[in-house]
Amino acid sequence: MTEPAARRDELAAALDAVRARIARAREGAGRDDDPRLVVVTKLFPASDVDLLAGLGVTDIGENRDQEAAAKCAEVRDRDRLTVHFIGQLQSNKAASVARYADVVQSVDRAKVARALARGAEAARRVLDVTLQVSLDEAEGRGGVAPAGVPALAELVAGEPTLRLRGLMAVAPLGADPRPAFDRLLAVSRALRADHPDAGWVSAGMSGDLEAAVASGATHLRVGSAILGTRQPHR
Ligand SMILES: *Cc1c(COP(=O)(O)O)cnc(C)c1O
Repeated sequence: MTEPAARRDELAAALDAVRARIARAREGAGRDDDPRLVVVTKLFPASDVDLLAGLGVTDIGENRDQEAAAKCAEVRDRDRLTVHFIGQLQSNKAASVARYADVVQSVDRAKVARALARGAEAARRVLDVTLQVSLDEAEGRGGVAPAGVPALAELVAGEPTLRLRGLMAVAPLGADPRPAFDRLLAVSRALRADHPDAGWVSAGMSGDLEAAVASGATHLRVGSAILGTRQPHR
């Protein structure tokens, strides 16, 4: 067990290093806007979230409902954090996610969108939503194919308890992320033509955040580069 002060220093140094990487990538791309850093805290304890909040982190990402619900209940400064749900979402978990998440990034089918809308209504909340797009159309990793984005976007935009904010994607495994992120930006441009408020593009993780910044991502989801290697679920 690491002492809290030592863990704080470790997180502060890693956070600085990631912020420096983002700044360098922005300079390289000639961007003067700052992408939002979502720190992915899955498999790390609420105490780490508290330390990160103390270091100026405003957004955290979680990918499993049970773990995320428990952590949100335990975190000290919950009200000062924006909680992003980024994991594959089953419609039977949507009501639970709607109670604690502020943003759901991984909406990829109509059934999940409708269940989330009903859950938000029951919780008397309005959720920000991004559609997860599949950039390689691989089975099992989630995401709507680019051709399916307009219909799903219409559905989400028509739900009073959901706010359509944009798109999210994970780079294809084992391929250059840059062309994939460029494709995502093209899908985003088409989406914005019909939904001008849906300009968020969530892309880029610990290993490929530079490519995402260069492509124009507005949100980065960074876990292991800040928190360290994740232990597998017990
Ligand atoms: C875990 C996860 C991340 C963070 O990945 P790292 O490589 O640890 O930065 C980002 N996005 C999604 C969807 C994830 O599940």
